[in-house]
Amino acid sequence: MKDKCHIKKDDKVKVIAGKDKGKIGKVLKVIRKDEDNRLLVENINLVKRHSKPTAQNKQGGIVEREAPIRLSNVMLMCSKCMTPTRIGFRRLDDGKKTRICKKCSEIIDA
Ligand SMILES: [Zn+2]
Repeated sequence: MKDKCHIKKDDKVKVIAGKDKGKIGKVLKVIRKDEDNRLLVENINLVKRHSKPTAQNKQGGIVEREAPIRLSNVMLMCSKCMTPTRIGFRRLDDGKKTRICKKCSEIIDA
């Protein structure tokens, strides 16, 4: 299996394809599906939806909500070197595997 999902909730990602190309957002949710992982990213891929009137909003109306985008359309933003990067792995002294930035080799997981 290629392209396993190494992105987690609260990561910052940069969109590299599609209508929001170039935008950066925070991952709200990772949606795992066998070969087709998708992400919900804050303020990215907004779609307008008509909402029905509710008790809170008697008129209903149009709301904008994030729609999932493909994992392959984003790259992780490294918080250390502030560039979109690929993810590498390093085994720590205690045996835990951690994600590292392939550009600056800093550990991504806080
Ligand atoms: Zn980096």
